[in-house]
Formats: sequence, C-alpha cells, structure tokens
Amino acid sequence: MGKIKCLNCGTELTMISNAACPACGIRLSHVKISFLAYLGPEDSLAGYQRSYKLVLLKSIFEECLSGNSPKVRTVADRFRAYYLRRKQNGLLIDKDVDSRIADIESSSLEDVFEVIKMNPYNAIRKQGFLKIDELNGVFVLQRGIDDLSNVELNNILILLREKLKLYYKKIGSEPSKMKLLKLFLPQKSKPSQRYLSGASR
Ligand SMILES: [Zn+2]
Repeated sequence: MGKIKCLNCGTELTMISNAACPACGIRLSHVKISFLAYLGPEDSLAGYQRSYKLVLLKSIFEECLSGNSPKVRTVADRFRAYYLRRKQNGLLIDKDVDSRIADIESSSLEDVFEVIKMNPYNAIRKQGFLKIDELNGVFVLQRGIDDLSNVELNNILILLREKLKLYYKKIGSEPSKMKLLKLFLPQKSKPSQRYLSGASR
C-alpha cells in the first residue's frame, strides 16, 4: 500500500513529517496530516464501505476550487448529479445503495441531503473535519484544511477521483483495462497474449 502524499508536490509523507513537507516546505498542520491519513493513499479503500464519503468530499472540494464557499444546496446538487450521471451512462450506482440514491432521478435535493447527513457527513463530522453552519447553510471544513491552495485542491480532487475509480472497479462496475483489451483481441492468439502479459508488468 502506498503512503499519503504531500498535496502540494506529491512527495510521500510519514506521520513524523508534520510541521512542513520535507520536499517543498509547505506547512503541514496536524489537521492536514490527519485528514490525509483519514482519506488514505490513492491505492487504498480502507475505511470506505460505500462511495458516499468520496463523492461528498469531491463535491465539497470542487466547490472550493471554483472559488465558492461550499453551500449545502450546491454540494447536494453536485452529489446528486454525480449519481445521476452514472445512472444515465448505465454504470452501477453503488452496491446495497439507499433507495433515494438508487432512484436518483426521482429524488429531490432534500432526499439527497437526508442521505448525505445520515451517512457520509456524520462519519466525517465525528472525526472533526467537517461541520455544517446551519445559519448560513454552508459546509465548514476544519481549520487547517479550510485554506488549501488551488494546487492542493486540484491534487485532492485527483486523489478522490482515483479512489472512486478504484472503488467502482472493486465492486465490479468499471471494466479493467485488461478486460477491455481482451475484448479487442482475437481469441486463442497466444503470442499476443504473452506479449500483453509481459507488457502489463
Ligand atoms: Zn511537498
């Protein structure tokens, strides 16, 4: 399993390297390190039973990257759009998924927000990384991860998308590259298969 990486320069970090990244010198608060550890490396799905947490965080950080404070409504809208797009493209939505997500096209933003609150939001809030400012209707990230630069936001989004890809591959939705390649290969052509298995290493 890979290690967590600096969001600014991609260097692998150890839990001891708090205070600053040894490679680029960017400040690493205790909160930022804990959050990166919580997200986990791009090749790990430890701690993820569903896609919800990844999709919620992706929606929040996408809003941050577009320069907006992540309003609850807009984030719920992005969250809904993610699953709707999957469904429209004939992709698996998730496994053992809540009916409000399975039937996403007939779910209102309020329905979707109920799912968000019950599942991913509560889990992330318990860690202290996220809360909702009810008065202003916005998600508030914990101090230390509320001021990420655009480079860091971009890299966190790349990380979240990689993990989602891995997740859907694991639950058998996204075809692997090998499966796709095999579709285009003539059957029983041993030399090219040998070539392929060699090339894939
Ligand atoms: Zn760095």
